Amino acid sequence: MASKVTLIPGDGIGPEVTRATLRLLEAAGAQVEWEEVEAKSIVGLRQEDAHADPLVTSLLQNRVGLKGPLTTPVGVGHRSLNVALRKTLDLYANLRPVRNLPGVKTPFADVDLVIFRENTEDLYSGLEHVVLPGVVESLKIITAHASARIALFAFEYARAYGRKRVTAVHKANIMKLSDGLFLDSARRVHVAFPDIEYNEIIVDNCCMQLVMNPHRFDVLLLENLYGDIVSDLCAGLVGGLGLVPGANLGDRCAVFEAVHGSAPDIAGKNFANPTALMLSAVLMLRHLGQATVADHIEKAIYSAYRAGRWLTRDVGGKASTEEFTSAVIGALEAKVKG
Ligand code: ATP
Repeated sequence: MASKVTLIPGDGIGPEVTRATLRLLEAAGAQVEWEEVEAKSIVGLRQEDAHADPLVTSLLQNRVGLKGPLTTPVGVGHRSLNVALRKTLDLYANLRPVRNLPGVKTPFADVDLVIFRENTEDLYSGLEHVVLPGVVESLKIITAHASARIALFAFEYARAYGRKRVTAVHKANIMKLSDGLFLDSARRVHVAFPDIEYNEIIVDNCCMQLVMNPHRFDVLLLENLYGDIVSDLCAGLVGGLGLVPGANLGDRCAVFEAVHGSAPDIAGKNFANPTALMLSAVLMLRHLGQATVADHIEKAIYSAYRAGRWLTRDVGGKASTEEFTSAVIGALEAKVKG
């Protein structure tokens, strides 16, 4: 039976990469019935009003969503709808697997790490105010509850997927209370996972180590803001934002989306790379129990990269979004025939 999934095409390059992903899933025979819902702003609404929003209702009913990027206004105006959705649905764990793709030239081969970013608090609390003209205060909220549950998620994932080590990333030498609490929570959770190695690294050193020797990392556990920044750095290690998928996971629902934003600079030009959303859909299909079709799609994407004829501009090719998608579908069909 087909699984009902909420679809949010998003804006900027969202509709282009979503169209490409739907084409691929259909060609692969994924059993999905889409419920497309427009994302309207729920920013600033009280929890009960946000829950009446059609998008939130749909996600809570279907429990799974595939989402294109939504533009986040910079500096002025309303806060991010992405952040509001994660908070309203309590999608507290942001999973971002970062791996090399064959044929994409990068400084290191065989990068294979997994990022767990806390998704609901930290400096994303949106609690900012002007203290007096020229002085602004922005509040960083860290709780033992949220820190422990993301740590638990990371350790459970490490155990389930045969990962060896969880590294907590912090700046507790400066933010002794907030980052100290995050670390303390991770250490407490680690007690129940003696089979998984645990260590800690200061965020600035982590960034340097990542660009010098990424192989020393396995699972990274981060607060919200460090997670955002380090994710983009890690995306750069494997060829850019067009390649890295993600999942926002909570107890009530899961929303799968690429790490990248709406990329307004290239929107509507048919050369966005849809790989990140396609790989997010692979994570989604596994979550839905459709592992076989997910494996087929993933292999087809890897084949298209290995062949290297129809790659998009961000990874050194000349192909359009649609040409790349056709190449992946071609690889999928070749595999089925073969
Ligand atoms: P946001 O604030 O919405 O998260 P961002 O500031 O992280 O957005 P992006 O929209 O992700 O920025 O874009 C950053 C850069 O990466 C831009 O130059 C954009 O063109 C490029 N980029 C992002 N996604 C893709 C993609 N799928 N294909 C090709 N280039 C991309």
